[in-house]
Amino acid sequence: MTTLFSKIISGDIPGDIVYQDDEVTAFRDINPQAPTHILIVPNKVIPTVNDLTDADQMVAGKLLLVAKKLAADEGIAENGYRLIINCNAHGGQEVFHLHLHLIGGRPLGPMLAH
Ligand code: AMP
Repeated sequence: MTTLFSKIISGDIPGDIVYQDDEVTAFRDINPQAPTHILIVPNKVIPTVNDLTDADQMVAGKLLLVAKKLAADEGIAENGYRLIINCNAHGGQEVFHLHLHLIGGRPLGPMLAH
């Protein structure tokens, strides 16, 4: 399966990649919601959180560890930030390739819009 994000990961379409290793790629969101807005994505296509299996334990944990590293690199670790994973329709997921949003660089307000 190929997704928009796998094309960014492979370099077939441009992306502002800030981190990449054998399992995970991170790139800046094209429509940033805050000064820092980075998407952290498994290199292999996992459509949603619902599709994770026990075999994905390492890559799922890696998403968080890369978020921690990038928050430090971006200088937002101390003030804080938000990590979001949207799932399916009620979660507002638009791209069906699992991704963790790292958002920060300003106070983010309440967790959810009412
Ligand atoms: P979600 O709603 O959680 O699926 O988030 C999808 C995110 O992908 C949105 O924040 C979009 O702005 C972002 N996005 C869509 N296309 C691109 C792209 N070509 N490069 C970077 N980010 C993108």
